[in-house]
Amino acid sequence: MPLRKQIRPESKRRYADLKLAPALVPKPLWGLSAYRLLSRGASWRQIRGDTLQAAGHRCSICGQPAGRLTCHERWDYRDATGLAVLIGLDARCDLCDAATHMGRAAAHGNRQIALTQLCRVNRIGRAEALEIFEGEMALWKARSHRRWRVAVDGELLRRYPQLRVLLPA
Ligand SMILES: [Zn+2]
Repeated sequence: MPLRKQIRPESKRRYADLKLAPALVPKPLWGLSAYRLLSRGASWRQIRGDTLQAAGHRCSICGQPAGRLTCHERWDYRDATGLAVLIGLDARCDLCDAATHMGRAAAHGNRQIALTQLCRVNRIGRAEALEIFEGEMALWKARSHRRWRVAVDGELLRRYPQLRVLLPA
């Protein structure tokens, strides 16, 4: 049985209850972020400023009024149609950001930090966190081996026309 079929239904069910869920960016989409494409210029600073303000300058996930907050781009990867959609923006502390991007965190030697945060925020045990991590890595591999089209949520695009930078010319 293909690995994805073993993992997905179980993961889907569990992820619906998770406060902090890993979201690994498929390889073909690496580098495709408003943060990078807007080169941290004024139009990005507007998005980041609004997002952090709306979050009350606290992490949108754990509530931590942390020193450094990241403006996180929330993407929905629609496996059935191969469509990646930017659906929202929120504020993330460094720890929640590491857990969200667990693959990257692991590659940078921060696997333990990411797992610990996943346990703490979701109030789950280490075995379950590891299972989630491994399931996400398998899903990431499958998602990395296909083509993706990109879209931005309509309301988000009306508010921030500069997000067109993410769309194909
Ligand atoms: Zn946090």
